[in-house]
Amino acid sequence: MAAEPELIPGISIYCDRWCDRCAFTSRCLQFRIEAEETGRGNALQDFDALNLQFWQEMGEALVQAMRLIREIAASEGIDPEELQKETALSTPPESLQRDARDHPCASAALLYAGMVNEWFAAADELPETGESLLANPPHFLEEPIQVIRHYQYFIYPKLVRAVEGRLSHSVAAESELGIDACGTAKVALIAIDRSLAAWSLLYGEYPALEDNTLSILLHLDRLNRSVEVVFPAARSFLRPGFDAPHP
Ligand code: SF4
Repeated sequence: MAAEPELIPGISIYCDRWCDRCAFTSRCLQFRIEAEETGRGNALQDFDALNLQFWQEMGEALVQAMRLIREIAASEGIDPEELQKETALSTPPESLQRDARDHPCASAALLYAGMVNEWFAAADELPETGESLLANPPHFLEEPIQVIRHYQYFIYPKLVRAVEGRLSHSVAAESELGIDACGTAKVALIAIDRSLAAWSLLYGEYPALEDNTLSILLHLDRLNRSVEVVFPAARSFLRPGFDAPHP
């Protein structure tokens, strides 16, 4: 199977393991193996194009999300330059010497996972949400909520792995571990981007939770900047298939 030309070597190394939402199931050996093992078949391949469109739309939502964050920052009197400085201060070089799980980026990702639970618990207290927003979301919020839930616990382990790669390798970013750390950080950044886009779609839908939603948006935005500071080459990392064109 590995010799089949349509398959993209290594595509699953830096993916988000969300096959149901992947636009490359028809080109992924890992997917094919798992589909055979589980007897699931290759039905998802029919959805590759739809999934591509889904993520393109989420990309547009991210642009809106970043605009929203800038507008809110301006109305709250927060200077984006100050946010940048704050990020730089929160990730001094010596922090890389600590255990990866104690790194500020990892701690912030863990904090985010807890903020998500608190938000949904608070949402369930609202009269308009009924019994459970997670169990019975309004149709128009189903997809953003899926995105939030898929990445809620995904970002933290990815960042721990990325930081571990940096720590264990100690310096040269060009080494195999250094490159892997960049690729892993990029996957985490994409998960943060998509979560930001999804939260921006929830913002305004629950006025009583506007402050909580805003806290999450600002927290994710800061985390995004922090990861970019710690892994400056992550954004330009080319993931096989997703970023690097393949015939
Ligand atoms: S590349 Fe896509 S299909 Fe393959 S394992 Fe990752 S998410 Fe699933």
